[in-house]
Amino acid sequence: MNDIIHYFESIPSSHRALILAGGIAIFWLIESAVPFVKFGYNKVQHAGINIFFTLTTIIVNFCLAVILVNAAQWAVDNGFGLLNWLPEMNIWLFTIVGLLLLDFIGAYLAHLVEHKVKFLWRFHLIHHTDTWIDTTSGNRHHPGESVIRFVFTTLGVLIVGSPMWMVFLYQTLSVVATQFTHANIALPKQLDKLMSYFLVSPDMHKVHHHYVLPYTDSNYGNIFSVWDRLFGTFKTLDREKIVYGVDTHMKLKEHNDLKNLLSIPFQKHRSPDIEN
Ligand SMILES: [Zn+2]
Ligand SMILES: [Zn+2]
Repeated sequence: MNDIIHYFESIPSSHRALILAGGIAIFWLIESAVPFVKFGYNKVQHAGINIFFTLTTIIVNFCLAVILVNAAQWAVDNGFGLLNWLPEMNIWLFTIVGLLLLDFIGAYLAHLVEHKVKFLWRFHLIHHTDTWIDTTSGNRHHPGESVIRFVFTTLGVLIVGSPMWMVFLYQTLSVVATQFTHANIALPKQLDKLMSYFLVSPDMHKVHHHYVLPYTDSNYGNIFSVWDRLFGTFKTLDREKIVYGVDTHMKLKEHNDLKNLLSIPFQKHRSPDIEN
């Protein structure tokens, strides 16, 4: 464990980039060999849009990283945050509790709020407009959403009081988990179901990408599935019945045009056809 902590304390940016690119490459190969849905899309053109948004996410996070590092350092130095207020734990338990809390506050709650607050949804919507969910969809976030997520992550780190190595560990796990849950692959149904008791499985996250409510507003989890199960936001839908996208933006030129995707947050708000 100490080796892991030591590695993530000073993980080089090049390693983080390699994990991101390597993950996309591996899942790309698998989903090309055994795709779950045969989309008949231009995979490279589609990836071009999503990789653009992945790069803007990286740039936003790179520019703001100093704030996150300082926030984590401040929390540790001042004994601030849940991890510092809890009784002393052995390092394994400390790490698991920390990752769970980061997942709850910085990811699950942040995601739920992005769906419920209209202004934030304008930005998060871009993630949902994708009608061809594959591994590149995982980091399809409008730059505005990347900033919003950064704010939530920083707040999460302060509330949890997590050291920076734990944040880097969480983010690394999150990148791979996200690529996996979006990949255009299908696990055996029973295995996917079993996985969804502990972790967000591909089927579980894809229900979140079904084009109509109430499914869009379910399964907000990022790495761990416990939060959706605990707070009643867990939903299932047969994988064959899932239609990707969001009902307000199903036209090809709206979800497959970079310029339009960038401008969606500033366009007139559209209400979904079916309310909860
Ligand atoms: Zn969402
Ligand atoms: Zn998604």
